[in-house]
Amino acid sequence: METLDFGSLSFAYTKTDYRYVTNYADGRWDAGGLSRDADITLNESACVLHYCQACFEGMKAYRTKDGRVVCFRPELNEARMADSCRRMVMPVLPEGRFLEAVRQTVRANLSYLPPYGTGASLYLRPIMFGTTPLLGVKPAKEFQFRLFASPVGPYFGGSVRALKLRICDFDRAAPRGTGHIKAGLNYAMSLYAITDAHENGYDENVYLDPATRTCIEETGGANMLFVSKQGHLVVPASSSILPSITRRSLIQVAKDYLNLSVEERPVKLAEIGDFAECGLCGTAAVISPVGSIDDHGKIYSFEGFGPVIRKLRQTLTGIQMGDIPAPEGWLMEID
Ligand SMILES: *Cc1c(COP(=O)(O)O)cnc(C)c1O
Repeated sequence: METLDFGSLSFAYTKTDYRYVTNYADGRWDAGGLSRDADITLNESACVLHYCQACFEGMKAYRTKDGRVVCFRPELNEARMADSCRRMVMPVLPEGRFLEAVRQTVRANLSYLPPYGTGASLYLRPIMFGTTPLLGVKPAKEFQFRLFASPVGPYFGGSVRALKLRICDFDRAAPRGTGHIKAGLNYAMSLYAITDAHENGYDENVYLDPATRTCIEETGGANMLFVSKQGHLVVPASSSILPSITRRSLIQVAKDYLNLSVEERPVKLAEIGDFAECGLCGTAAVISPVGSIDDHGKIYSFEGFGPVIRKLRQTLTGIQMGDIPAPEGWLMEID
């Protein structure tokens, strides 16, 4: 491998030496194992290419201060991927296989694991997709699960500047659709909206609930959190929001480490002017401060890196990096 400058990595793909691959055919998964081949050969009529039968996950491995290699709550990614598979009519991996793929891939690519203190980490991307050649619309019978690793820097370029968002006129998820699972199709339909947002100077789109367009859902790839003027954490709830592991962890951190009161409930667009702070959360960025949300010219401003968002970020990253004791079971050590 060429030498990597871990301090100046961005959130981008770097090819690493090994990835874990297992294929499903005739009703069962093969033994699976590591591969050096980063490319995939598919039939031109493979189901995923036409009908998007696919899902993915995103997680991180990193080195703690005391030199351990850990992964943050990977069994939640495993469970969420199983939910995504069931909703997409794809087979769930055999018990234990997901975490085995994580361990093998991280161990095989240790030279790409950024050192403690660089702010960089080894991003893990599990994917599953239908490979069967089809013309008619139906689920595939053959599938591939693949988990690759890529060293990454911070998602929004490292500077924790406050983000500029806008209320989006498009929807990301239909009522009773697939917003709650990690399907690539949810992203396909957001690409037009995010391109348009960037062209107009915004960092991200805020999507509203698709049925009534009166409540806040999330952005294209991160859940949202608000802090009330009383210092309560207010977290939008809806059946079409993707259940972010970072969000669920931050809620527990707020309650158990910071003694904050937490409200998980529908959040009306009409009330966001009452909040003091706003943040976006997800594996890639952990928690990023939001400076403003533009609703068609009406601008709501927030204290960018306010005290609560700052404390939440420091505590969760401290737990992840092993500087602050983690709740039982939050760090899976890879030896
Ligand atoms: C992956 C994802 C998130 C963040 O989830 P984490 O588990 O915290 O990484 C949020 N929203 C969407 C739409 C996502 O796909």
